[in-house]
Amino acid sequence: MKFASYDIVFQEVPDEVSLALNITACPYRCPGCHSPHLREDKGIELSTESLGELLNNYGQLITCVAFMGGDAFTKELYDLAAWVHLKGYKTAWYSGRKDIPENCPLMHFDYIKVGPYQEEAGGLKSPTTNQRMYKIQDGSLIDITYRFQRK
Ligand code: SF4
Repeated sequence: MKFASYDIVFQEVPDEVSLALNITACPYRCPGCHSPHLREDKGIELSTESLGELLNNYGQLITCVAFMGGDAFTKELYDLAAWVHLKGYKTAWYSGRKDIPENCPLMHFDYIKVGPYQEEAGGLKSPTTNQRMYKIQDGSLIDITYRFQRK
């Protein structure tokens, strides 16, 4: 599992300052894809070493690590999310799947976004979006998609 880039972001996960990792080798082919370069299997290996280095540099600034993608490497993703939790940060997963995989260890995540990008439905900010953002609390999924939408 590799990542092409990273950023410190404020809007992707409500109430959190997140280190967002843009993971490559996206297995989907959404029409109107906003990041076609993420479909290639390229970038820096995402491991406890590389992520540890980023946390050394930016750990004071963030409250959460957001895995943007990683659908092709769920086992690695789950292990890394567990490791991030042990470091004391929250974790978020932006998945392009329709639903959360049945075997997903919810305890390793605080937020999971699901739903492929559908141009006509729009992203999380769109009132017609097909995507959902869940907060995971005590093993339950709470739909917080409304937090992205203007009243
Ligand atoms: S999940 Fe994201 S990166 Fe992958 S094809 Fe769809 S829009 Fe593009």
